[in-house]
Amino acid sequence: MNQKIVIAGSGFAGMWAAISAARAVSLAGKQNQVEVMVVSPTPQLHIRPRLYEAVIENMAPDIAPLLEAIGVRHLAGTVEAIHADRREVEVLGTDGERVTLPYDRFVLAAGSRLFMPNVPGLKEHAFNVDQLASASALEKHLKALAHKPETAARNTVVVAGGGFTGIETVAEMPQRLRDILGQDAKIRVVVLEQAPAIGPDLGPVPRPVIEEALAECGVEVITSTGAVAIDAEGVTTSTGERIETHTVVWTAGARANPLAAQINGEHDRFGRVHADQYLRAKGAEGIFVTGDVAMVATDDEGHLAAMSCQHAVILGRVAGHNAAAELVGLPTHPYSQPKYVTCLDLGPWGALYTEGWDRQVKLTREAGKALKREINTQWIYPPKADRHAAFAVANPDFVIAA
Ligand SMILES: Cc1cc2nc3c(=O)[nH]c(=O)nc-3n(C[C@H](O)[C@H](O)[C@H](O)COP(=O)(O)OP(=O)(O)OC[C@H]3O[C@@H](n4cnc5c(N)ncnc54)[C@H](O)[C@@H]3O)c2cc1C
Repeated sequence: MNQKIVIAGSGFAGMWAAISAARAVSLAGKQNQVEVMVVSPTPQLHIRPRLYEAVIENMAPDIAPLLEAIGVRHLAGTVEAIHADRREVEVLGTDGERVTLPYDRFVLAAGSRLFMPNVPGLKEHAFNVDQLASASALEKHLKALAHKPETAARNTVVVAGGGFTGIETVAEMPQRLRDILGQDAKIRVVVLEQAPAIGPDLGPVPRPVIEEALAECGVEVITSTGAVAIDAEGVTTSTGERIETHTVVWTAGARANPLAAQINGEHDRFGRVHADQYLRAKGAEGIFVTGDVAMVATDDEGHLAAMSCQHAVILGRVAGHNAAAELVGLPTHPYSQPKYVTCLDLGPWGALYTEGWDRQVKLTREAGKALKREINTQWIYPPKADRHAAFAVANPDFVIAA
């Protein structure tokens, strides 16, 4: 091997970047000249879009057999430093060893993290559904409530943040609490949203449907109100109210992985690296950015890729293809994803499916739920550990036929 592509991250963007890079190398017949390597803590795809669900099972499929089938090496560790000037990254292995990896092309696909502002008690007392470990900790905590004495604090859950993740989390919660505490328990489930309306980023069109669904699920929506302090017994809101609860779930937005800050050039307010249409970091040669760390236009009308799985799976394919294409002499492919949809789980009410950036309502209730189930149990899972099957869906212009 005389050339190397290093990909940091094995999430949606990193996994698809690896498959698509391996596909391009294979198309050019250069498997013996270009090595593709993925660095991440474990060779697993963590299914973050499902972590709001009541049962945290099958959320980390093993992708080691897939990587082996397509000839991609996995190194267990985290990239700690990027030295773009000398084309090297420093990796801390999960075995504690530090290694320096030279690269010809580097793909940053290290994802995002929950935004944790400086709210007193947030880090110590709030739960979240951002990563597998934290979602599992919430699940364990909720189950343990059944063994606590019955109080208002035990029976109350407050979700802080009424965006996409907060809405999905809170809609599940009344049923989830009743399953644990008993169907007759006097439960209270509240969502706090700082903006004047629930789902501020989802826009006005789907809002009446969301409000109807949350009301039917038994969720109390409190708008124009944030959490200003959290402790083990409750939360204090920006309007001075005190809500007794042992369970505050924080869902207030995401920020790009801090590694993105090590890449020269402009960053947006979420810490994402400005990329060109080929997903090359604008300020650093030899570096591609993809998934939640990339800020890039999806179309010619000014829409930007969201920090979403929907965008990450296509961004990954394009970044991986282009990183390899530059080395093996194939044409590079511009990123474009004009179709935008959302599918919002609304607990026992069903789910809401919308199309377009203005989110026109297309499916609701059980029809929406059937689609959400399909997305959550099939579409976002890794392809089979079979080289031909994986390459067949890894082309950079791949679109899911909905
Ligand atoms: C509760 C919840 C619900 C969501 N619902 C939806 C939804 O309905 N629809 C939707 O489209 N999106 C949804 N999302 C967003 C979606 O999960 C993310 O946008 C998506 O996971 C981004 O993919 P990614 O590959 O960029 O990053 P990630 O999936 O975060 O993967 C990052 C990878 O990088 C690895 N990594 C991190 N740091 C390093 C490092 N230093 N070195 C090497 N590897 C590293 C991680 O271990 C991981 O493998 C949801 C997210 C959450 C949390």
